[in-house]
Amino acid sequence: MTTIPTTAQASTAAPTPASRRRTFAIISHPDAGKTTLTEKLLLFGGAIQLAGEVKAKQGRRQTSSDWMAIERSRGISVVTSVMTFEYGDCVFNLLDTPGHEDFSEDTYRTLTAVDSAVMVIDAAKGIEARTRKLFEVCRLRDIPTVTFINKMDREARDPFDLLDEIEKTLAIDTTPMTWPIGSGRDFAGTYDIARSQVRRLDRDDEPTKVNGPEAGLFDELLPKGAGEWRDQVELAIGGCKPFDLTSYREGHLTPVFWGSALRNFGVRDLIDALIAFAPPPRAQVAEGRTVTADEKNMSGFVFKIQANMDPNHRDRIAFLRVCSGKLTRGMKARLVRTGKPMPLNAPQFFFAKDRQLAEEAYAGDIVGIPNHGTLRIGDTLTEGEDIVFKGVPSFAPEQLRRVKLKDAMKAKKLREALQQMGEEGVVQLFVPNDGSPAIVGVVGALQLDVLKERLASEYSLPVDFDPCQFQVCRWITSADEQKLDSFIADHGSSMARDLDGAPVYMASSAFSLRYEEERAPGIVFSDIKDYQ
Ligand code: GDP
Repeated sequence: MTTIPTTAQASTAAPTPASRRRTFAIISHPDAGKTTLTEKLLLFGGAIQLAGEVKAKQGRRQTSSDWMAIERSRGISVVTSVMTFEYGDCVFNLLDTPGHEDFSEDTYRTLTAVDSAVMVIDAAKGIEARTRKLFEVCRLRDIPTVTFINKMDREARDPFDLLDEIEKTLAIDTTPMTWPIGSGRDFAGTYDIARSQVRRLDRDDEPTKVNGPEAGLFDELLPKGAGEWRDQVELAIGGCKPFDLTSYREGHLTPVFWGSALRNFGVRDLIDALIAFAPPPRAQVAEGRTVTADEKNMSGFVFKIQANMDPNHRDRIAFLRVCSGKLTRGMKARLVRTGKPMPLNAPQFFFAKDRQLAEEAYAGDIVGIPNHGTLRIGDTLTEGEDIVFKGVPSFAPEQLRRVKLKDAMKAKKLREALQQMGEEGVVQLFVPNDGSPAIVGVVGALQLDVLKERLASEYSLPVDFDPCQFQVCRWITSADEQKLDSFIADHGSSMARDLDGAPVYMASSAFSLRYEEERAPGIVFSDIKDYQ
């Protein structure tokens, strides 16, 4: 039988500020219930008074995340934000990810800043496309995942069916930690397999101890199907892998919980699981060495830039994931890319609705650093020696467009604005070697809308986008510098530089890209690049 660690870190070491941190994201397909679950998690932490304040739908109260007209008009959450709350002995940093696929790059970058994930699945739908994609990103980074099967109060698929689908489509083992007692209108609660206790739908906070699945209580809760249910539970206990902490931490196994975010049911089990199993801040890979959370010197990397969080202040916030040490307000860090000191005078924490000056932050925490364009995505800030964290990736965009300026006199201003938008990760920017107008790259068309809107409102630059003769692009590298130089020289009109000056080859089609690849041995064409 499974043994459940009950201490915060599943270890006996005395807790430290870092070991109390749980920094995580929720991954799901739109509509599975991520927002509802977020609200309920925040309620546990006392971070918000009222459920329903995370995502104000149209016509309802606006929240700080509704910062842009485009977001309001489309009713989608464009930005990624972070919410901090305390519960039990832990400090949780929940990183929100945009629901819309067009902003997936933002989501991928956010996932570089978390230590674990909660996967929310709609009990009637099972694994959907976006869940699968996001899970793959988690797998690339070995991010451990807890599964929450939501909407059990509605018609749901058979539990074994759902577990089977998770195992088969995601190639991960599952361990049901609880088992649903009925579903839809008959949903009565969950049975905690290891603790042999029942949580009832209407009394989530008072579990009832029982003597296993045979207990008479189940006849009461399931007047029609207790016998069948008992058979199911026996099968689940006998047939499923027991929970194994190492396997979960390595990303090979996901513990599964069932519930209803809407009814605030099962959320307590989930949060308790995060306290008990989810990893504290992980060691981060930097060039040359790995930085552990308990190192004395503060270090961190920027994974997200957000502008205009407060339309009245036109501010720009860089989100820094603290990786080691202690960040204190007023300290002088160093921006490794430029070598310049960077005083941290107003680092901020974010809550559901508010932000607050962060006097101290520890590994695992996310702090917002207001700046006027000094910080870029991928930047490392450090207190000690120069380190450069790896792994905030850039993906080759799926659409390329030329930016057409309506007023040619403003070309210089446009260049500066595009540079800034590129550094914020709104779009990717490519400057062609032949001096032709800049090319922007995006994953989805909505990013272009955001760019257009921001250029108009912040820089008074009305622009349009022209189709571009190029459809795909790849970063190129080579072990042989001469080879690289001559490739660049030979392909002058198809070459561009990205923000960091890295060479990018542009092709008119996937076919012509393949053709060039075959004709250029020794040149590596890559569709993913780590920020410098
Ligand atoms: P998101 O797109 O993943 O953020 O999903 P939302 O949290 O906005 O939920 C989508 C819809 O499903 C909303 O209408 C919710 O009220 C509803 N919903 C969320 N969780 C549950 C649940 O546990 N049970 C039921 N019946 N509906 C739910």
